[in-house]
Amino acid sequence: MRIPCYLAPLLILAVLPSPASAQIAPPKIVDAHVHYNGDPAFLEKLAAKLDSVDGLALLITAPKDLAAVKAFIAKHPNRLRGLGEIKLDDPTALDQVDQFHAAGFVGLGEITSPLKNYDDRSYWPIYERAEKYRMILLFHTGIVNRLHPEIPTDISVDRMRPLTLDGIARRFPQITIVGAHLGNPDYADAAEIARWNPNLYFDLSGSSLIKKQDDPTFWKTIFWWSGIVSPHTPPGAPDAFERVVFGSDVFEGELEEFDRELERYHKTLDACGVPKAAQDNIFAGTMWKILNHKP
Ligand SMILES: [Zn+2]
Repeated sequence: MRIPCYLAPLLILAVLPSPASAQIAPPKIVDAHVHYNGDPAFLEKLAAKLDSVDGLALLITAPKDLAAVKAFIAKHPNRLRGLGEIKLDDPTALDQVDQFHAAGFVGLGEITSPLKNYDDRSYWPIYERAEKYRMILLFHTGIVNRLHPEIPTDISVDRMRPLTLDGIARRFPQITIVGAHLGNPDYADAAEIARWNPNLYFDLSGSSLIKKQDDPTFWKTIFWWSGIVSPHTPPGAPDAFERVVFGSDVFEGELEEFDRELERYHKTLDACGVPKAAQDNIFAGTMWKILNHKP
């Protein structure tokens, strides 16, 4: 068949493979919280795991690993996106935000252990830059481990309370915030600010679902407003549990935690009677829309 020459460029476009950014089918799972441990072997295992479950993970990446992770993501564009691990108190943080953005990273995190409260105004230039790039910010909230008690550290859970995210969410509406661990143990605080901030979500990773495994319907008292119509709840709000997104908090290469956390989520959400459509959003839909800038 002869193709009119004015159609030839269109034909060439039609047969070229579509770029990674044009991935259309949503994955079944989006894990918003996976730590890279710096071991390339872990990346291969993670990609294989995500292939097996049709999953996509946001991979928390230290600046030293930026180049390696960028290259790996380029090979597995439908399985991974990058989060740049910056320190709010690092004087080079702004430059690092630029570098992560230039490398195609979709967000920053896990942000943790600040010397001031998360909402301290001295951190606002970092949030402004992140907003300019429409980044996702993953913050640690609530209790944090203390793996080396013999070493003095300037860390306090008090500076990472979930309520410190409220002012950031309101001041920077183009940022999407994910608070890790639902502020353990300040669950009610975390859920209430997520109720009114459409750009604020939490994951349930960490010890909370283990702590409450014999009392899973406890979470209905935290996410209480499903189906309630009142001037005191956001109009047209979906299921209250949709303020939650899936995060496994795999760290130090322990990929087995992915399946364990997935099972805990399923058991908890089923026990609370969360409808399938809402669960689909929790496990993938919500983050997928955010990644595609479709709020
Ligand atoms: Zn984490």
